[in-house]
Amino acid sequence: MEGGLKNQRAVIVGGGHNGLTAACYLAGAGLEVTVLERLDHTGGAAVSKEVFPGIDVRLSRYAYLVSLLPKKIIEDLGLSLELISRPVSSYTPNTLDGGQSGLLVERPVGANTYESFEQITGDAKEADRWVELYSEIEQVAQVLAPTLLEPLQPKGQLREMVIAKAGERIWQQMFEQPIGVTIKERLAHDLTRGVVATDALIGTFADLASPDLLANKCFLYHLVGNGTGEWLVPRGGMGAVTLALRNKALQRGVKIKTGVEVTGVQSDGNLATITSSDGEFDADWALLNYSTVDDFLATSKPSQPGAQMKVNMVLTSLPKLKSGIDPKIAFGGTFHMNESFDELASAYRAAESGSLPKPAPFETYCHTLADSSILGPRAKEQGLETLTLFGLHTPYELFETDPQAKNKLLEMYFDAFDSVCVGSFREHLALDANGQACVEVASPVDLEEDLRLPRGNIFQGDLSWPWAEPETPNGYQTGQWGVETTERNVLICGSRAKRGGAVSGVGGHNAAHALLSKI
Ligand SMILES: Cc1cc2nc3c(=O)[nH]c(=O)nc-3n(C[C@H](O)[C@H](O)[C@H](O)COP(=O)(O)OP(=O)(O)OC[C@H]3O[C@@H](n4cnc5c(N)ncnc54)[C@H](O)[C@@H]3O)c2cc1C
Repeated sequence: MEGGLKNQRAVIVGGGHNGLTAACYLAGAGLEVTVLERLDHTGGAAVSKEVFPGIDVRLSRYAYLVSLLPKKIIEDLGLSLELISRPVSSYTPNTLDGGQSGLLVERPVGANTYESFEQITGDAKEADRWVELYSEIEQVAQVLAPTLLEPLQPKGQLREMVIAKAGERIWQQMFEQPIGVTIKERLAHDLTRGVVATDALIGTFADLASPDLLANKCFLYHLVGNGTGEWLVPRGGMGAVTLALRNKALQRGVKIKTGVEVTGVQSDGNLATITSSDGEFDADWALLNYSTVDDFLATSKPSQPGAQMKVNMVLTSLPKLKSGIDPKIAFGGTFHMNESFDELASAYRAAESGSLPKPAPFETYCHTLADSSILGPRAKEQGLETLTLFGLHTPYELFETDPQAKNKLLEMYFDAFDSVCVGSFREHLALDANGQACVEVASPVDLEEDLRLPRGNIFQGDLSWPWAEPETPNGYQTGQWGVETTERNVLICGSRAKRGGAVSGVGGHNAAHALLSKI
């Protein structure tokens, strides 16, 4: 068998973290593996970079937090990687009182959380409802997380497993009815409902009340990771995840060719020919880590457009808040702004009708509070902090029709900070070597240009249910891995695979296992 595998050649198109994951598994099994990456570096959306001239800070330029990367992949591959837990889950300034108060959620939930819920909602029971909801969700996650690395099961089987562990009610509420309806059933207050709702919207332009359940899928992926749904900070930034995978791949003898753009993949089912800027490659197997895999799908329907702004900033210090909360706590987890349930609904309505979202919902994350290793010596000495802002409900089309949309949104975000912070937020922005404020903005149009993400969809396409759906186009049969295509020897090994969205390595793992099961 080993000899047989050694004769097998696999070419992986795209050196994103998923392509590298597949490469590590396949090379470990004895295949001859080549990765072709069009950029001059690997990692795709999982990279770190010094973005601002003269500022020695390595920012997680696109993806920033890790939840869905299974411990099993880290252990299987022996990856040298540290993922840091944070004591704060989120803080949400209350925009109704101009940010004089705010909702704090600790991780795990403690006395301060209960006090904060009661202060904001005036309802001593709201925190209990919250705890009950998340404990049921965690039980669902414990059942589903391990299945992401296995061949697909029928929906009915997963349903039975989930109900046995977590009960019928949560199955119904997460998988059968719109998540917006569920959130309203389970929680009573606009602000607490909004914090939950954001997990159904990050990276997905969706109506929380829609029966298409697109938002439910997004919600699931934000809460299923490793059976806890916790989002962790990768020490050294997101580039450290890719570096660990790249190092492992090289150690296992994988050839990584950067600066090679693939222009075509053809296959007769046995031999694949990959055409590229560096000539033609023949292979027994082609694995596709890039987004435009449609040529190999029986049918395909267009995905939702990307609808998020990614803003990278470096600050001289964190702003103080009007509520008086310590900024290290407020910015220590996810800082939600304009994200109450009603605000999210109103922003969606505006964006859907072609206007800028009003109010403009966003959330921020401060890497340096959890991990200062991304700061160089000068930045450390200056006490710089990083802030990543993720804007919601900003669909691709907005930026096509209005060239000023990016600037307008940025101003809206800064004004929103000013409404809840002491003094001017803009004054906290560090200046680069050219005297420019350290702010880098990427709209969905920019993401399409930089990373070839179709219409800037951060997951390359719509997220999918984690079970076989043979009744839907490309929905996959029970027993398949959700990576198969119309050709036996061409497999999807990235975000476009079923269960593949996010920095998870799941697409890469599953493509490698599907391939190995065919030899
Ligand atoms: C702004 C942003 C923020 C995000 N935040 C998070 C987050 O915090 N946590 C999280 O889990 N996920 C996040 N995501 C999603 C996550 O980054 C992606 O789902 C993940 O990176 C997908 O990995 P991948 O390896 O499948 O594909 P990609 O990262 O898209 O990599 C594909 C690779 O293929 C290469 N390629 C494309 N076309 C060709 C070609 N023709 N020839 C050769 N090479 C080619 C690309 O250059 C790229 O390197 C975010 C994404 C974005 C864009």
